[in-house]
Amino acid sequence: MDVRKLTPSLSVAPQISVDDIALAKSLGFKTVICNRPNGESDDQPELSDIATACEHHDMTYVYQPVISGNITDDDVDRFSEFLDNAEGPILAFCRTGTRCSSLWAMSQANTHSLNDILATAQSAGYDLSGLTPRIQAKQADQGSSPVKKLNGHHHDVLIVGGGAAGQAAAASLFKRQPDLDIAIIEPRDEHHYQPGWTMVGGGVFDLKQTIRPMSDVMPSKARWYQAAVERFEPDHHRVVLDDSESISYRILIVAAGLTLNWEGIKGLKESLGRFGVTSNYHKDLSPYTWELVQSTQSGKALFTQPPMPIKCAGAPQKAMYLACDHWQRQGVLSNIDVDFCTSTPGLFGVADYVPALMEYITSYGINLNVQTTLTEVDGNAKCALFKQINAEGETVNVEKSFDMLHVTPPQTAPLFIAKSPLADASGWVDISAETLQHVRYKDVFALGDAGNTPNAKTAAAVRKQAPIVAENVIRALKGKAPHALYDGYGSCPLTVERGKIVLAEFGYGGKILPSLPTWLIDGKRPTKAAWLLKEKFMPWLYFNAMLKGREWLASPNVSSKDATDY
Ligand code: FAD
Repeated sequence: MDVRKLTPSLSVAPQISVDDIALAKSLGFKTVICNRPNGESDDQPELSDIATACEHHDMTYVYQPVISGNITDDDVDRFSEFLDNAEGPILAFCRTGTRCSSLWAMSQANTHSLNDILATAQSAGYDLSGLTPRIQAKQADQGSSPVKKLNGHHHDVLIVGGGAAGQAAAASLFKRQPDLDIAIIEPRDEHHYQPGWTMVGGGVFDLKQTIRPMSDVMPSKARWYQAAVERFEPDHHRVVLDDSESISYRILIVAAGLTLNWEGIKGLKESLGRFGVTSNYHKDLSPYTWELVQSTQSGKALFTQPPMPIKCAGAPQKAMYLACDHWQRQGVLSNIDVDFCTSTPGLFGVADYVPALMEYITSYGINLNVQTTLTEVDGNAKCALFKQINAEGETVNVEKSFDMLHVTPPQTAPLFIAKSPLADASGWVDISAETLQHVRYKDVFALGDAGNTPNAKTAAAVRKQAPIVAENVIRALKGKAPHALYDGYGSCPLTVERGKIVLAEFGYGGKILPSLPTWLIDGKRPTKAAWLLKEKFMPWLYFNAMLKGREWLASPNVSSKDATDY
């Protein structure tokens, strides 16, 4: 028996045998704690035999099994109670003794310094430095009302949001560490493949193809809290839910997307879904877009784009091109006056793709109105009001009538993020553009639309970000600094006609970052191959690769200088 002393009243040991109980008795132990689940491996003695041996030697036997790599705060509390109440000295054992010493280490967080705890464990032969963030989190909680006293929920990794980014991050984490304790907070019971809504509005996809039950995409190993986060308390390493429950964490990943601000345009909410007013940004309205496109034979069609940032900056134009393509095929395009009204100073933010797009603007006969922002909609009167900055730099009011209006709503950071200590001045989660780690709270990461990284807010960006976050989170759990770096990759497949796409792929600063060789897909021109990718391959890639931790063409870049530990 390999007994290792942590304190005068507690020693730990790797797996003991039934015969070792007599030896433990002779060494003076009064209580034996087993922290290993019965039947964890074939070579493990039957625990009832150990319990019987303890009884035979007049020793107390305590069975407190914990799962390796998944020690909860409740486990720590229970172990702490045994230390306080059981007759000592105590001998605790598991497979190697690490679980017992980890339980002890965390139970000491509020009474001993981190260095003392780690040094004591080290002298017993256990390197517990990986517990550093968790012990520090417990120490930081001291003096405040502890979460565990409220309800005891604690997770190694807590993900806020089960959309594209939250699910992809969880999948990439499980790929790296299958036994990781991960929880996801997500209020919805449906998961939405939003890139498909452009195709629904263009009559290519059925809405059903873009919706899955949340339970189908949620990793079975993750704990799912079906609730919404109301408040972040990063100084106490916890979040508060809308039912006032708190959950603490070692690492927090914020992936709660963005807010569509329908109220930001006067009269819009009242008009949506009728009077010819629609939006592919609203799941339930993308089929209405296609209805309107089919029924419009003449008159005036308006397509709008609000100020940046928005998710998928190409989607407002995509809806328009697919509509024009349909009208052209039906021979009615010349009867329809089409306007694109965008708040931006140009058609698209990355200059390389503008010539190909301008060719379509010209060939469809679209009136391009830049610096033109939708401010008000009167559905009944079929009238839209805009603020336009004219050639002289003056802001003027412009009124346009419409028979069909496709609106892209203004978009903001979710309010619960914007008002939290995690936000930057604009309300987005304030993270490093490269490592995706929070600039002030080192145990917080963010990805997807909620972050303030200056990339195109797209699911394509998430596909690259998730492995980077996973890589850096695993390191943070071990007390190490991040080393995987994001280059700002995002992608926007511009559906310029049914069957052809201009595939914009770019990173920070507009740097062109094609995934495939240009002989296969030249992103600067419309190609059939890119359309096939979008129509046939992307939904499959999303659900079966990105949300399953298969990081095809998305391996994280790791810094060559490799960051130093905290
Ligand atoms: P989401 O996928 O929106 O997920 C956020 C999740 O957080 C949601 O499930 C939400 O319920 C949850 N949440 C919100 N508040 C809380 C809270 N308080 N507590 C807990 N959870 C919360 N991308 C592309 O790559 N290519 C495209 O062609 C493309 N086209 C698009 C077309 C349209 C019409 C739209 C709308 C989007 C398109 N996108 C496209 C963008 C892409 O869908 C998003 O960038 C992507 O979904 C972002 O992922 P996310 O997880 O950050 O946000």
